[in-house]
Amino acid sequence: LQAISAVPLDNEPVSEEELRPQALGGFIGQPQLKAQLQLFLDAARKRDVPPDHILLAGPPGLGKTTLAMIVANELGVPIRITSGPAVQHAGDLASILSSLDAGEVLFIDEIHRLPRAAEELLYIAMEDFRVDVMVGKGPGASSIPLTLPRFTVVGATTREGMLPSPLRARFGFTAHLDFYPSEELEKLIERSAAVLGVDLAPGSAQQLSLRSRGTPRIANRLLRRVRDWAIVHELDVVKPDDVKEALSLYQIDSEGLDRLDLAVLNAIVRNFDGGPVGLNNLAAMVGEESETVETVCEPYLVREGFLMRTPKGRVATDKAWIHLGLTPGGDVSK
Ligand code: ATP
Repeated sequence: LQAISAVPLDNEPVSEEELRPQALGGFIGQPQLKAQLQLFLDAARKRDVPPDHILLAGPPGLGKTTLAMIVANELGVPIRITSGPAVQHAGDLASILSSLDAGEVLFIDEIHRLPRAAEELLYIAMEDFRVDVMVGKGPGASSIPLTLPRFTVVGATTREGMLPSPLRARFGFTAHLDFYPSEELEKLIERSAAVLGVDLAPGSAQQLSLRSRGTPRIANRLLRRVRDWAIVHELDVVKPDDVKEALSLYQIDSEGLDRLDLAVLNAIVRNFDGGPVGLNNLAAMVGEESETVETVCEPYLVREGFLMRTPKGRVATDKAWIHLGLTPGGDVSK
């Protein structure tokens, strides 16, 4: 089964780039966040200094990388991109930091996954614009403090709570990205359709938006699958029924739930009588990492009222039972 989820794919960067807005004005939705960020960037520009460090928190696929690139574009400075897992040793980060030019944006995706030693080096660099570079090896090694030009870190995380507080405290601006309402996704889909040259009939963007799980990355992916459908069926205009038919082929749920969401709900209901069940047991039952279940899957299920997090564990709501075609609290053996 082809899974369409919010998790980025390695082979996708080229196609993601063509749909990425370059300026804050082109970033759809999140109006409050955009207004705050605009003010923050304008003030830095007027003062002619690089802005404070920025932390972007929220589930995958909501536009953190896009916003980081927009920040650099709006400031007219280059952006350097790395990620927590890509930095294996503190030295890797030291060499990136010591090669930054004045004003540059350093984007660190999954910043909560930096190794501890790199984290410590980073918060000194963010606070004092200084990095200690180790010279030589063994007993003769010494550290030379190196002064850095001012730069701006844009950190992205799906798990803000995992950031140590000294690091979190170094960000002057923190933005929480939330799932997009379907009206906003509709606008995003219309914009992407224009870029991709797909002619959507009235109502088609809405059908797509309702199945996009509140997530721009998924909206764009579904649109591409609908484009494939239109090409193969030689459609000039894509009607709402075409969208439904195309997406039913990919087993996209009417509520936008994906394979993992449904596996989680099914496990709670069928294996744990609706819960409560602890996160680790649940993750083991669906064969996924706990972190993926917690950061990719649960935020949406909670927001849409399918799942509750209680002190004793995860519980499926009546809405979840009904969505699975079952009577809440009823017999699941059939
Ligand atoms: P991850 O943390 O997994 O990297 P992300 O939150 O950084 O995810 P992006 O890569 O920025 O997500 O966005 C995914 C896709 O959705 C991109 O192709 C981008 O063009 C599009 N996109 C995201 N947010 C918006 C938006 N508000 N307006 C227009 N397009 C958007």
